[in-house]
Amino acid sequence: MDKNDADGLLPIHGVQPRTEETLDPDDWTALRTLSHRIVDDAVDYLRDVRSRPVWRSMPEDAKALFEQPLPRSASSAESIYHELGENLMPYPLGNVHPRFWSWYMGASNFTGALGDFLAAIQGSNLGGGNHAAALMDQQVVDWCKEMVGFPVSASGTLVSGGSMANIIALTVARNAKAGIDVREHGVAAIDRPLRFYGSDQMHSCHRKAIESLGLGNTALRRVPTDAALRIDVAALRNAIAEDRAAGFQPACVIATAGTVNTGAIDDLMALADLAAEEDVWLHVDGCIGALIAIAPDNAYRVAGIGRADSIALDPHKWLHAPFEVGCALVRDAAAHRGAFALTPEYLQPTPRGIASAPWLYEYGLQTSRGFRALKVWMALKEHGVEKFGRLIDQNIAQGRYLSDLIVSEQRLELIVPTNINIVCFRYRPEKEMEEEALKALNIEIMLQLQEAGIAALSDTTVRGAHCLRVAICNHRTRRDDLDLLVKEIVRLGDQILRGSRSD
Ligand SMILES: *Cc1c(COP(=O)(O)O)cnc(C)c1O
Repeated sequence: MDKNDADGLLPIHGVQPRTEETLDPDDWTALRTLSHRIVDDAVDYLRDVRSRPVWRSMPEDAKALFEQPLPRSASSAESIYHELGENLMPYPLGNVHPRFWSWYMGASNFTGALGDFLAAIQGSNLGGGNHAAALMDQQVVDWCKEMVGFPVSASGTLVSGGSMANIIALTVARNAKAGIDVREHGVAAIDRPLRFYGSDQMHSCHRKAIESLGLGNTALRRVPTDAALRIDVAALRNAIAEDRAAGFQPACVIATAGTVNTGAIDDLMALADLAAEEDVWLHVDGCIGALIAIAPDNAYRVAGIGRADSIALDPHKWLHAPFEVGCALVRDAAAHRGAFALTPEYLQPTPRGIASAPWLYEYGLQTSRGFRALKVWMALKEHGVEKFGRLIDQNIAQGRYLSDLIVSEQRLELIVPTNINIVCFRYRPEKEMEEEALKALNIEIMLQLQEAGIAALSDTTVRGAHCLRVAICNHRTRRDDLDLLVKEIVRLGDQILRGSRSD
């Protein structure tokens, strides 16, 4: 940058030729050339994603790169980039592909990737401080509050993902309901053991959270679900009463807005009423569904979400931010800060200067924090929140479309009615088959689809029935991708059956 101090650069006096080492290049021009090439290749990579297989297994020689020892000496950036082009970029997990529907992941976006790049170039640590990135971090948290109908007075923090967002919120809930100063005295000092409640469909991260919070797995009660796989509110009420009578302290209900298995959304209005009556904390795990609040055709499904005490949401799912970014929101900002704030002598605030703004690390477990906000901010600015809402509606409509295709295809069977964008079904031949054989057949279909690079889907078991599972959290998916999926599943299923008969 050959600018002068009129551009805000300070004049440099008496600079000597360099003797000390640095990580900066000797030749910025060569770096510029390579960087332009990388960006050009990146644009092509995403532009052409549809023409590549969703996934492919790595040949052994490509894996050799990952067995190389710790490099002792230098390599050129060009040669490193060449190796990545050969051995890394062709072998992704696949979630940026239009026919990736496994588990539950976003599909990323180019602008978000530029955001991650610029965030790294600016290089700010979001532990806190008085600087622009910290303001943007708080602005994105404010936008998340607005999207789910939380008041501006609530607090929040951007974290690595939904699991971390949930544990942050559940920590605040534990401390708020413990009846003692848990931070000082620990969970062993809690008078009546705390109980948390979620449905038998809740995400596994809640068990990890409860275990990590020192409460033990038995403190997390799994409440049965109704026919639509939503928490049975009457059963929950009974469980709470039972626990109170037995000397436990009911502390927190974990509602799920969008379960991983089937996309079921608990009755948030009823749970908010119950939480108020029972004086328990209401946490909503909205990693999948909280953002349905911005989708005009479907927002009604999460009505009441704004009444929660805390919400976990996941911008790397339905906002398609590149990994990682999750968000924990807590209605009572003082309780949130009170669960984590510490001010060691080396992080004292100052009246002016870099340390004169609130420390953002006081709202979670990390001290250093990445600048996760920029990728979310840029994509939201570029497209506007309304478009993200329409894309959510589009995925839910695609869920219905696929579901209808399955219902009208004789060889396929819907396992549960489709609620949002998650479709659970299986291939079922005309001839009766044992459950175990049917499961093996469906797994074989799933693996052949993956190995041929046609589509990625995953499997699960719902109420004892094994099924294939398509979760359409993907802004690149089109209806013809779903047509193709159905066609290929039927073709593969028939083919595998024919093959096994001729054995
Ligand atoms: C994805 C998900 C999580 C975990 O979020 P990560 O971002 O993967 O850590 C938690 N709960 C639900 C319902 C989810 O779908």
